[in-house]
Amino acid sequence: MLSPVRLISEAAELAARRHNGMARKGRGSEPYVNHLAEVANLLATATGGADAELVAAGWLHDTIEDTDTTREELAAKFSDRVASLVVECTDDMRLPKAERRRRQVIDAPKKSADAKLIKIADKISNIGARIHAEPNPEERDDLVDYTGWAERVVAGCRGGNPWLDTKFDDAVKAARASL
Ligand code: ZN
Repeated sequence: MLSPVRLISEAAELAARRHNGMARKGRGSEPYVNHLAEVANLLATATGGADAELVAAGWLHDTIEDTDTTREELAAKFSDRVASLVVECTDDMRLPKAERRRRQVIDAPKKSADAKLIKIADKISNIGARIHAEPNPEERDDLVDYTGWAERVVAGCRGGNPWLDTKFDDAVKAARASL
């Protein structure tokens, strides 16, 4: 069992390597690792730094979905709980995007309390990246579309952490104000 510091450090390192060269969608096409750092840090702040496995899962939450990382690998390297949390945040990429989105809304209320926190942090980060100072019509449409969908997913995830819920509401407000 890794110490809390090593758990998070190893998770950040693996995530950075696995997502190397990927850019995130949205403003400035930032390196993907910026998104992972933001999600992990939101989770660390939301829980007062008390849950290293949750923060590690934040770093790793897109590794199974977007890279050739498996649940078994995460379970062996980190823990069953970390691996399970990442699996809970993994969409079935064999499905079309519209179906994946529909399932996220339906499945959100059935997720574990900790997976719900990761989902909310993920949506906060993704909305933030889509806010542009001077959006073009395509960026505007994307922000409206993404934020509306994110609100429906987060409606099924709320209630476990008031700070995170407020952060999400702030992100939605900022998105609306930017349009
Ligand atoms: Zn993500």
